[in-house]
Amino acid sequence: MNCDELKSCAYNYFESQLSEEARAAFEAHSEECADCGPFVAICREITCEKLTEFLDDYVDDHLPAERKAVFERHLAICDECVAYVRSYRITRSLTEAQSGDLPPYKIPADLLGAILAARKKA
Ligand SMILES: [Zn+2]
Ligand SMILES: [Zn+2]
Repeated sequence: MNCDELKSCAYNYFESQLSEEARAAFEAHSEECADCGPFVAICREITCEKLTEFLDDYVDDHLPAERKAVFERHLAICDECVAYVRSYRITRSLTEAQSGDLPPYKIPADLLGAILAARKKA
């Protein structure tokens, strides 16, 4: 198992949906990998998938302090979620701008590219 594989099956690991064999490979990798060890420890508190469920509340700053701390610990080690939160904020500010409450927001081309790439991935 490599780092990408580990990250892609983290959700199934914590939902106990991995085969015996995949579980063992997951644990072996997380023990020996300096990147994935902390990632797995953080995912024990909140996985990438769970994090997205609280995204709205996080962006609106409605999360209880305890959950917000967990959320931010995850963001501190997970580049994918940081990118996701960033593009989510931009998408939200665009939607709000379109609804007329805020002045139109001009997005730099590289950010727009990042949003489109993230959407394609999802
Ligand atoms: Zn790794
Ligand atoms: Zn994540």
